[in-house]
Amino acid sequence: MTNYPTIHKNKDSFKIPPNLPNYENAVKDFKHWSDFEKELTYFDDHKINAAYNAIDRHIETFRRNKIALFYESETGEKKEYTFYDLFVLSNKAANIFKDLGLERGERAFLFLPRIPELFYCFLGIQKTGAITGTLFSAFGPQALEDRLSDSQAKIVITTKELKERIEIIRHNLPHLEHVIVVDSQDFTDKMEKAKEITHVARMDPDEPAFMLYTSGTTGKPKGVVHAHRAILMEYITAKWVLDLRDQDTYWCTADPGWVTGIAYEILGSWANGVTSVVFSGRFDPKIWYEILEKYSVSVWYTAPTAIRMLMAADSGIVKNYNLSNLRHLCSVGEPLNPECVEWGLKVFGLPFHDSWWQTETGGIMITNYPSMDIKPGSMGKPVPGIIAGIFKDDRHKLPVGQEGNLCIKCKWPSQMRAIWGRPKKYESYFFAEKGTGQKWYLSGDRATQDKDGYFWFVGRADDVIKTSGERVGPFEVESALVEHPAVIEAGVIGKPDPMRGEIIKAFVVLEKSYQERAKGKEGEKLIEDLKAYVKKNLAGHAYPREIEFIDKLPKTRSGKIMRRILKAKELGLPIGDTSTLEEY
Ligand code: ATP
Ligand code: MG
Repeated sequence: MTNYPTIHKNKDSFKIPPNLPNYENAVKDFKHWSDFEKELTYFDDHKINAAYNAIDRHIETFRRNKIALFYESETGEKKEYTFYDLFVLSNKAANIFKDLGLERGERAFLFLPRIPELFYCFLGIQKTGAITGTLFSAFGPQALEDRLSDSQAKIVITTKELKERIEIIRHNLPHLEHVIVVDSQDFTDKMEKAKEITHVARMDPDEPAFMLYTSGTTGKPKGVVHAHRAILMEYITAKWVLDLRDQDTYWCTADPGWVTGIAYEILGSWANGVTSVVFSGRFDPKIWYEILEKYSVSVWYTAPTAIRMLMAADSGIVKNYNLSNLRHLCSVGEPLNPECVEWGLKVFGLPFHDSWWQTETGGIMITNYPSMDIKPGSMGKPVPGIIAGIFKDDRHKLPVGQEGNLCIKCKWPSQMRAIWGRPKKYESYFFAEKGTGQKWYLSGDRATQDKDGYFWFVGRADDVIKTSGERVGPFEVESALVEHPAVIEAGVIGKPDPMRGEIIKAFVVLEKSYQERAKGKEGEKLIEDLKAYVKKNLAGHAYPREIEFIDKLPKTRSGKIMRRILKAKELGLPIGDTSTLEEY
């Protein structure tokens, strides 16, 4: 679907040899997940604890006094923590939670901005054997009530400022026993007095470790539960895909309110012993480049929405920064437009590596590896050990080249263990393959696989447009539009049409210099230009018959375009759950 040439990798493509030197060999040699367990630490009887693997096991090694976390606040306040510091702080936090009666399997939720307390309290809860939940600090009372009430959380950990939102709904939360305020004198005193050592709960690998609610892009968020075992997948993918190693400084821009922040800012990344940067401020191109420079970031994991915003900002500004330490760039969360991959090459001398996964999969499933050629616009290939397939709606497997439901063969270590309180919903994600009976997981996304084994994202099943008998994925139309110099971002939907079933409608955010001009007659000309551009570069049937300029696309807090909101507004329908909408 893309006209972009393949980016070939050879030994000059990387500064140091990748952790996964040869993808094909790794796939061929893969036998069983348990073969990798020796890289983690299990207790007797095969018990495990994710937090122990992220932090404690490094204490006995050369990493004891290594920086685990460089923290910088929005106002520029800086702090640093070694692995030993996080070990002690999380032990103390665990002891405080235990004193409050938090028990194995009970839920404790973090409602915190991205401050150091979030990280060590997350680990502390894991150590008690309770289930850690995360909540974006921007959540309002309704979003909080939905999640805290559904999960029957016993403890919420928050700040003075955020606590007010909990107070509003507290009378509806009979299970909530304690609200811990981390910026209070009480917490400071408790931390001071708490013992530095704690007994880390020995968990069965299948016992729940954390839960979080999906991004809510397509509907009401679901409470996805993950087990301690998931750390194996998170560790291996952080090693193979993010290519983390000891000399790196790694920056994951995700918030732990989103699964990426848990799997690759806490568990998988620290399980590899890497030094991480956490910046709690907002997106701002200059500040982001400053962070990359100041901390000599070498591996950077971010999202398409941020990349598009950096592209929209004057790319000249990047020249003011010394980013020579960067060696590996990755992206997640949304389809990565091929133009973003190319832009990385142009500006940083490095392509972005797309990675596809979901809250439910608990870890990266399909991705581009440092050692593998990149086809810009493709998600890449399944992680060694993961088998992905494309299925028809009738549960028959489809051959290469055909578009269908993207599915993952069961089981893998970070496969979700439950949808909290909704066993039927959970079961609905799985099906038996016609003919073989093999169990598969249905992702809800549509994709194709090409003859070389690369997977291409088409769209979420709900978003795929059926126009004049053809199926069109919004992503390819959006990508075609984004390539036009006037366009920063685009959200594409199907709009019911009596003749064609649906027509394609695009909502377009224009580049600054085009915004004023597009208000008058020139706007109409630009619309025609854009239509012609997509017709020419994509396909005659896939161009948007309607184009509307808007200032901003509705997005989730994890940065995903919410096409369902564009559609509901267009059709004058109720807009549904908006708890994860970026701004109301
Ligand atoms: P909800 O399930 O509540 O609607 P959500 O699906 O956005 O929300 P997440 O689990 O955070 O919640 O996101 C996973 C989804 O994000 C995937 O199913 C896919 O649609 C999209 N996604 C993630 N990474 C990629 C990628 N690399 N390419 C294309 N799409 C991606
Ligand atoms: Mg989803």
